[in-house]
Parts: sequence; structure tokens; C-alpha cells
Amino acid sequence: MNNRMHQGHFARKRFGQNFLNDENVIENIVAAIQPKKDQALVEIGPGLAALTLPVSQYVDHLTVIEIDRDLATRLLENPFLKDKINVIQQDAMTVDFTALANQMNQPLRVFGNLPYNISTPLMFHLFQFTHAISDMHFMLQKEVVNRLVAAPNSKAYGRLSVMAQYYCQIIPVLEVPPYAFKPAPKVDSAVVKLIPYKSLPHPVNDIRALSRITTEAFNQRRKTIRNSLSNIFSAESLTNLGIDLDARAENLSVEQYCQLANAYSKTYSIMSE
Ligand code: SAM
Repeated sequence: MNNRMHQGHFARKRFGQNFLNDENVIENIVAAIQPKKDQALVEIGPGLAALTLPVSQYVDHLTVIEIDRDLATRLLENPFLKDKINVIQQDAMTVDFTALANQMNQPLRVFGNLPYNISTPLMFHLFQFTHAISDMHFMLQKEVVNRLVAAPNSKAYGRLSVMAQYYCQIIPVLEVPPYAFKPAPKVDSAVVKLIPYKSLPHPVNDIRALSRITTEAFNQRRKTIRNSLSNIFSAESLTNLGIDLDARAENLSVEQYCQLANAYSKTYSIMSE
């Protein structure tokens, strides 16, 4: 039998379709989500409803975002779902989650077994809407989960770690082996929970400053901070901010990146006065 065929659907590689096919794993994920009646649950990439069906048992309404038209149609026709499901047949990267939360009159609980080919850009897209989201549960490549939770001074610590930890508290939930999916992916997976901070621990005045500094620092992660950030800061200003000139991108904490971002945005806001 073709191993890309599952429940009569041919898994599309371009949409990162690896369907969950393990009852225990599905149960554990739903137990971690703890869906409750009247909450605004939003699933990204419901696929063949492996998570959608068990989650739907706890709620009266469920919104799902699915790019694949065939799967969206199947979901709408599913007798157990059709009366309670709102199917948005759209690329999740273009969804305005604030508008969705406004429509539902409450912050969203977002979850999904994300397509691995777009999981990192999708996380960055979602970070723009953390004010409209109460929590997120995602299945991701284990390596991406390791990067999300990484602390400074480790190889996994990078731009994704800093940006994710700026916005959210991050809790690894469970590891999932390739054989829990059909077709089986080549990599290990893991579920992670992200809880956006109601009050940011290290707020920055301009998120673009944090974005630029982390990009410059981690794009040249082997260089010292003095060199990688030389387009933005003089050695003297780095020293004044208490940054070790010989440190590398991975040695700076989220708090230090936020300090740098605020110092940088101050310089351009002064220039524009
Ligand atoms: N939730 C299902 C499961 O666990 O079995 C399917 C997970 S599969 C890894 C990813 C799902 O996301 C697929 O249904 C795929 O069609 C959908 N998808 C892929 N890219 C998407 C995008 N940009 N926006 C919304 N859905 C997408």
C-alpha cells in the first residue's frame, strides 16, 4: 500500500502533511490542551481531524484553519464536526488572529500539529498576535522545540529562542517518535506549550529594534558582539551597557538583547525629534 495514503487521502508533501496516527499520543496532547466549553479554540492544520475530533467533544464551537481545499471540504462534511466547526480555508500565515479573537470576544487558545516546512515563520507570524492569544500548544520538530526553550550559552540558543522567550513562557510537554505519524517524518517531534506573557518581563519600545539586533548578532554568531553589532553600536556604547565586547551572540541573555534594543531605538527616536 502507498505509505502516503491515509484514510483515503494522499498526503501532500508541499503542505507538510504527516498525520497523527497514535491514539496514546493524541490522548496526551488533548489532555495537555485541556479544552473547555466556551473557550475560543483555534486549530491550525486540522488535516484529517486526528486532534479536531477529540477536542471537539469538549466544546460547542471550534475554528480550524486549513490550507488544503480537499481536507477543508472533508471537515465540513464530517457528521461529527459539521454543526460546530468554522473552517477557514486559508494559509495560516495570512490569518489575522486579532480579528479572530475580536470575532469570538475572547483571547484564543491556538493549537496544532504544525506543518514542519513553515513552522518557524508561522511562530514569528503568531508572535505578532500574542496580545490576542491566551495559550498555544504545538507539535513541532523536536529540534525547533529545543531552540524555543534554549538558554544562553548553548548551540540551540538563537534568534528564535530570544524572540519566543521575549513574548512567551515556554514549556516542553512531550516527545513524539516518527512512527506516531503517517507518513512517518524523518525527524523526531515534540509538543510545546507557549503562554504569552500578560505583562512582558523585558518590554522593548520598538520590536523592530529587537528584531534587527538579534538578526545581526545571530547571522554572524561566530563573531564577537563588538564585530557583529558594529553597524549599530560603538564598542564604547556596548561597554556602557555592560556588554562584554568579546561575548558572542549566544552568550547574551534575552534581557540583555532587550536592553540593547531599547538603547538602539532611543538613538533613532532622538534623531527623528
Ligand atoms: N492535525 C493533523 C494531524 O495531526 O494529523 C494534520 C497535521 S499535518 C502535520 C499539517 C496540516 O497543516 C495539514 O493538514 C496541512 O494541509 C495543513 N497546512 C499546511 N500548511 C498550512 C498553512 N500554511 N496554513 C494552514 N494549514 C496548513
